Amino acid sequence: MSSATTSLSSKERLDVLFSEMEELAGQRNAIDSRLVEIAAEIEGDGIWGATGCRSVPALVAWKLGISPHNAETIVTAARRLEEFPRCAAMMREGQLSLDQVAVIAERAGTGSDEHYAQLASVATVTQLRMAIKLEPRPKPDRKPEPERSVRKTVGETHTTYRITLPKVEAAKLDAALDSHRDALVAAWKRDHDGDTDIESDINAGGGYGEVYGGARHGENSDGPSVQVPPFPTTTDALMSVVEAGWDTDVARRPHGQHTTVIVHLDVENRNAALHLGSFLSEEDRRYLMCEADCEIWLERHGQVIGSGRATRQISRRLRRALEHRDRCCVVPGCGATRGLHAHHIRHWEDGGATELDNLVLLCPFHHRLHHSGGITITGPVGNLVVTDAGGKPLNPGSLARPPTQPRPSVKPCRGPLGERAEWWWYTPFEPQPPPEIPN
Ligand SMILES: [Zn+2]
Ligand SMILES: [Zn+2]
Repeated sequence: MSSATTSLSSKERLDVLFSEMEELAGQRNAIDSRLVEIAAEIEGDGIWGATGCRSVPALVAWKLGISPHNAETIVTAARRLEEFPRCAAMMREGQLSLDQVAVIAERAGTGSDEHYAQLASVATVTQLRMAIKLEPRPKPDRKPEPERSVRKTVGETHTTYRITLPKVEAAKLDAALDSHRDALVAAWKRDHDGDTDIESDINAGGGYGEVYGGARHGENSDGPSVQVPPFPTTTDALMSVVEAGWDTDVARRPHGQHTTVIVHLDVENRNAALHLGSFLSEEDRRYLMCEADCEIWLERHGQVIGSGRATRQISRRLRRALEHRDRCCVVPGCGATRGLHAHHIRHWEDGGATELDNLVLLCPFHHRLHHSGGITITGPVGNLVVTDAGGKPLNPGSLARPPTQPRPSVKPCRGPLGERAEWWWYTPFEPQPPPEIPN
């Protein structure tokens, strides 16, 4: 089947394709270089403020229709463009890729432009990253504080969480888990007196150790029991912590999604003040009161005449319907999905109803921005118009369109050599000692 001719022709085909890739890579690097320059200009001059975007990477992602990660790469390169003129020039000439330059811009030491320009001409992105890691860092003994994080991996049947906490906070979590587990174990023992074997077995295992397991499910010498519920594990303790927190929260604010700001509103002059607090600006009043969860006391001449909850309250059903329809913040290019507010397109103060047709989801940032005049949002829901501070409508799509300019005329880029790096022979970049200050 595989004769000499077919293998030869596929090799030839590959050669043709590779040569096209080289040419495109060069052109692409040159184009990326220009995008980086544009991002640098947009950020440097602060001219993006009116766009309604939360950050320059968000703006770049939106306008180019690229992922937040890729936008971050462009902006990372842009932020140190002036520090790395040699690398920048090589990218402009098509000989370095955006990823290579961004890796350098991300962490390379000051004054290392020349060093990395040379290295980058032969090194892959991974090799560059390695080389930068080898740079001697000031204060090498100071361990960086680990970033607190909760990472989630969604599998087919389970979701795995990885929680990273500094020691003090980790101790707090441990204490909470221990205490909840003790309570669960006590309750379990109360219900199943006599099954002490199981408990001693678990305790002999040294608690949960490093793995928060949930495997030892109420097993005893007679095999797994069907009636007896599983012996409480640390996983149960964790869920108990979550549920306890949840219950307290619900008890504290039965109607709230995420806020219980209380506002006193004078129905005649529309003056509003925070409960036991200061008067609100027009802007803050409308922002706070747009939130269906804010508790409002209506007053006339200082006398409470009622609470404005009934008309504004968003039922669970309505909220779900809204989430189902909008999915994320409705401001074009935003896409935020967390902590969303239900915004009244026509404010309830002006007679706007708390109905699906008058509500849209906004992220807190854009909600605030809208009520402070940074963007406008006009209905109807099906044909929403969002404009920036200058009144220009924001379009959800990217700016991409068929090119009218010829492709950049640069040399093809063959890319790094792809050779195995001999780190033994590599001399890392040495930062220059700071100039001595004469006494
Ligand atoms: Zn609002
Ligand atoms: Zn938003």
